[in-house]
Amino acid sequence: MSEEKLHLCVIGAHIGDAEITAGGVVCKYTAAGHKATLVHLTPGEKGNPRLSSEVYRKQKIKEAEESAKIMGAEVRVLEYKDGELPNTEEAKLRICDLVREIKPDIVITHWKGSFHKDHINCYHLTMEGVFYAALPGIERPLPAHSIKLLYFAENWEDPFDYQPDVWVDISSVYEQWLEALRVHALFRGEVASFDYLRYYQGLVNMRGAEVGVNQAQTFMLPPISRKNLIDWFPVDKPVLIF
Ligand SMILES: [Zn+2]
Repeated sequence: MSEEKLHLCVIGAHIGDAEITAGGVVCKYTAAGHKATLVHLTPGEKGNPRLSSEVYRKQKIKEAEESAKIMGAEVRVLEYKDGELPNTEEAKLRICDLVREIKPDIVITHWKGSFHKDHINCYHLTMEGVFYAALPGIERPLPAHSIKLLYFAENWEDPFDYQPDVWVDISSVYEQWLEALRVHALFRGEVASFDYLRYYQGLVNMRGAEVGVNQAQTFMLPPISRKNLIDWFPVDKPVLIF
């Protein structure tokens, strides 16, 4: 990679989504001197059977801050409510303004093939927010900003038609990523019955095995971005054919 310092931004619907689906890549980028920001559109405060939403909201925001610190990343938690993330012009412009403010090069978000309405709305808000951010004619307090790349993360709740396009080797930061995840009560199994750590440890190990490294996280391109112009067939980088 070139010496250029990049800004990676992961936009998730709830605290925890960005960390568990793309945290390995976040750790890898920050370790290499790049900047990373995790944006949580809602705290994900409503799923705790023992704590009120208000108490759990505060706990989750603290967990997000501690987790981001371990990953060497910045964090933003927006004001929307868990389960009620709106797919509105106001929210798209909120993402537009945020993108113009933090000026990321690479954005990672949810794939729309999800069974969670907040995740589906996060997909739409991000896609349209980054589009608005790039258009100078959308007049907002800050000037237009165009991102360079956008990917969708692999999330157990967003499985429909997910097709990985790139595998990123996260072996060098695997333990750091796990440390950042263990900060979250949700991932320690204290909130929900789904065994997040077992699932995602299994996933990154399986994805790693697919490409011959210890652990990898995969990402999907927007279908339009699959158009891959080449001058010549890349024989210096052979693809797996059998
Ligand atoms: Zn979520």
